[in-house]
Amino acid sequence: MAKRDYYEILGVSKDASKEEIKKAYRKLAVQNHPDRNPDDKEAEARFKEATEAYEVLSDEKKRQAYDQYGFAGLEGMGEAGQHDYSTVFRDFSDIFGSDLGGFGSIFDSFFGGGGQARTAGGGSRGPFRGSTLQYHAEIDFKDAIFGTKIEVAYRRSVACDGCGGTGAQAGSGKKACETCGGSGQVRRSSGFFSIASTCPSCKGEGFVIESPCGTCRGHGVLKKRQKLKVKIPAGIESGKRISIPGQGDVGPNGGPAGDLLVYVTVKPHSCFERNGNDLYCMIPVSITQAALGTEISVETIDGDRVKVKVPAGSQNGKILRLKGRGVPYVQDSNRRGDMYIKLRVDTPKKLSSKAKALMKELSDALGEESSPRPVPLSEL
Ligand SMILES: [Zn+2]
Ligand SMILES: [Zn+2]
Repeated sequence: MAKRDYYEILGVSKDASKEEIKKAYRKLAVQNHPDRNPDDKEAEARFKEATEAYEVLSDEKKRQAYDQYGFAGLEGMGEAGQHDYSTVFRDFSDIFGSDLGGFGSIFDSFFGGGGQARTAGGGSRGPFRGSTLQYHAEIDFKDAIFGTKIEVAYRRSVACDGCGGTGAQAGSGKKACETCGGSGQVRRSSGFFSIASTCPSCKGEGFVIESPCGTCRGHGVLKKRQKLKVKIPAGIESGKRISIPGQGDVGPNGGPAGDLLVYVTVKPHSCFERNGNDLYCMIPVSITQAALGTEISVETIDGDRVKVKVPAGSQNGKILRLKGRGVPYVQDSNRRGDMYIKLRVDTPKKLSSKAKALMKELSDALGEESSPRPVPLSEL
């Protein structure tokens, strides 16, 4: 398919100003925005086409190459099928005002990944929200059941107190970066290719600070170690997370802070297993206890000992229930699940001569079956 001329796509003249190009693109992008034209493949194609045209014509170097040599001029500038939409992202806040959210995700789905430029350091001009930080905490089985408080120590970016987060010394301002001319990116040729990378002088910001703050060296933020007490609610399950708003990294250029997410892993218990709000454990009993019935004393997760009745004739695998001795519900800690005890009937391995004689006597008394019939496996 023959490619349309970029000026034609945007409907501007060859000598259109940067402002005119931006205005034309904005109009087309809003008109053909996929949110407004659901399932309209043509609108989607026009949206992409306009974005590509804008990406080239808004970049002085690319525009010059395009004017001189047409599409061929762009080859080797990362334009042949592989687009670099960083310019579009950088200009996004001017083009679409505050309506960034929806557009960013559209760009992600269309062009893959590039949308990160909005939140990472690369996107300048405008305060972006800081990064969300993750913390992984491992807690004991019992602490997960009854709740606890843990101390979380981690490093986060905070606004520099020397400059209040601006990065500039009192009374000094910002100027456009000379290395990249304010675009935040530099291109380096390597054989046939030209590789775009973040400008090393301004770290992609597009501007530099005239006299940087001595405390943060112009970054506006400082990494600081912080300790927080985090309450772990009773009944929390492994893999759940606790979100602490505003305790992540502070955003660059005075942006709001991201969140801290504490992911909880619960260590296994040596005897108890958990299924939802119920607890399971296995208790061995002897064949005589199982046959005659008895009362045993069992330790619960609370650390108490509770008397449990084993009925006469209990089979191996029989399950007994202790009501309300399970895990508290996170929403209502007064309510608890149950504790289940699975009986394991142990056959004695070593018998004293007296025990052996008694067993023999018992065997005779029971009149045992010498050719037992199989039972369905479903009875297991
Ligand atoms: Zn620069
Ligand atoms: Zn500072």
